[in-house]
Amino acid sequence: MDRREQTEGGEQRGRARQVRQQLAVATRMLVDAGILGYSGHLSARGPSDELFYVQPVDDSRASLRPERVLLVSFDGEVVEGEGKPPSELAIHAELYRARSDVGAVAHFHHDPTTMFTMVENGAIVPVKNHASRWAAGVPVHLDASHIATAAQGRALAGTLGGAGAALLRGHGEVVVAEDVLTLFADVVHFVENADALAHAMQLGRVRPLDRTECDRFLDTFQRDRHARKLWKYHTSVALSSGSVLPEWLDAETAPVAGDTWAPVRGGSR
Ligand SMILES: [Zn+2]
Repeated sequence: MDRREQTEGGEQRGRARQVRQQLAVATRMLVDAGILGYSGHLSARGPSDELFYVQPVDDSRASLRPERVLLVSFDGEVVEGEGKPPSELAIHAELYRARSDVGAVAHFHHDPTTMFTMVENGAIVPVKNHASRWAAGVPVHLDASHIATAAQGRALAGTLGGAGAALLRGHGEVVVAEDVLTLFADVVHFVENADALAHAMQLGRVRPLDRTECDRFLDTFQRDRHARKLWKYHTSVALSSGSVLPEWLDAETAPVAGDTWAPVRGGSR
């Protein structure tokens, strides 16, 4: 192996470690936010075609560790790691297969958001400016069963189309983004918008942001920078509470040195 191959191998291992850490950190922070619970999962596209990272089905979302994250094939074969992948693996595999622009996928079962599939005219519309990403609409997938087969996954990919998120009737949500940090920000904002919308509906007739308002917001919105800002905020909270460990954060996205990082829960859950 020459120097170049050694360097490339080192870079790949470093990238794999970073993605596993980001998935574990994002998972724990979404548990802290009340968005993930005993089920649901995040994934990120792997180092080559038809591979992606995802957590084992039986690992608690509240205590997922980076080294436990699996590398699996689109067919569900475990390429690296110990354990079985989630039973709804086809959600991730088929969305990656259908959407070359997608680098990370979240599937979760957040009842206050899923409730929009349970009422007549329950469409999610943008009422907060960060929901402008979904201005074109949030499709609802009508198959309320678990997405257990590749055919069901392909059907869900068909429902999602080119959108950034979809609701699964009586079941949950999928959100897609380009990487783990933007995915984390999108999931937080998707749920925030649904929560604000539900409350606004109690107050009176809702006035959603129209396409012009959304486009004007997006004209000046720096998506990558905003995702990093949100990540830094949530990781600083998680470090202080002990939900995540400092060594799981790379220098690029960790909170600024000098922040108070003292864990209050021992950092070992
Ligand atoms: Zn599900």
